[in-house]
Amino acid sequence: MNKTDIRSMRLEQLKKMIADMRERSFRAKQLYEWMHVKHVSSFEEMTNLPKSLREKLQEMCDLTTLEIVGVQESRLDGTRKYLFRLPDGNVIESVLMRYKHGNSVCISSQAGCRMGCRFCASAIGGLVRGLTPAEMLEQVYRVGQDIGERISNVVVMGTGEPLDNYKNLISFIEMLTDENGLNIGQRSVTVSTCGLVPEIYALADHQYQITLALSLHAASQEKRLALMPVAQKYSLEETLEACNAYFKTTGRRVTYEYSLIRDVNDSLQDAQQLSALLRGKNCHVNLIPANPVKERDISPSKGHVAAAFKNELEKNGINVTIRREMGRDIDGACGQLRRRYQEER
Ligand code: SAH
Repeated sequence: MNKTDIRSMRLEQLKKMIADMRERSFRAKQLYEWMHVKHVSSFEEMTNLPKSLREKLQEMCDLTTLEIVGVQESRLDGTRKYLFRLPDGNVIESVLMRYKHGNSVCISSQAGCRMGCRFCASAIGGLVRGLTPAEMLEQVYRVGQDIGERISNVVVMGTGEPLDNYKNLISFIEMLTDENGLNIGQRSVTVSTCGLVPEIYALADHQYQITLALSLHAASQEKRLALMPVAQKYSLEETLEACNAYFKTTGRRVTYEYSLIRDVNDSLQDAQQLSALLRGKNCHVNLIPANPVKERDISPSKGHVAAAFKNELEKNGINVTIRREMGRDIDGACGQLRRRYQEER
């Protein structure tokens, strides 16, 4: 029989389980605190619970805990990449970025990915499975514990398509921002998607104050289609409409991510086309110098080309930044650490 994944349960669900077990109701909150504030890795450590209850829980439940199997630290900026082993043996990666305004963790939402973007290292091995809420939370908890500092920002921008793991993503957001847990502000959470349109509408309806980042990467349907298979399913027009709706429903400005790939999408004409698409929108464009991926034939745009691209957007009144590259010296692109680990086995 499958055991209950107790660290994936919201407080309400825990309360129900505790009631069904005929335990006293305040035990639910104690349990939640052990798992989501103190981040313990065993029931034994929950010392204010009666031993009999701990033993019962041990029998009924799995307490998902991720194990660090590797860490790489950038000598340039202190960025740390973590390789974690999941309870079933799969490995995933997370990245800690240290900014002046606080510590930010970039987490994976799936082991692998089935979106197939042509420039992305995570797409190469396909999808293994979506991560549970506990496995997403644990990435944040273990990184925080490892550095002994508070994590203030979380970006769901690692391996995987978060909206392709929708139900677990919602539980994750609820629990991450729950005042009884880590209590991260909704405004400090960003979810990045390649553009699953129905799920963008569904997410908007929750009215969270999180930031939606849309991976655009091209300013025409034709070009986007060549880079991102998801464009076969949802046109550029429909995708931008969904982002407009997200802004309308939540009041949160959407971020458009655009990886500058040398000689692919970085011409002045591309910049003009992008400006025409986004002009007048309350949005933010994040230009990302493409990360070279061994298996893919892509290189980042030259510095002056990127600067000219940015300039063209600014001329059109569009809010734009070139993302500062973090951890350049430690295996750039998303998914590459995981791939290397898999290849070495
Ligand atoms: N599936 C989600 C989140 C994961 S990818 C999404 O598509 O948004 C996080 C971001 O990194 C996305 O914008 C993705 O397109 C981008 N990305 C992937 N591979 C890259 C590469 N080699 N260089 C630059 N950006 C890349």
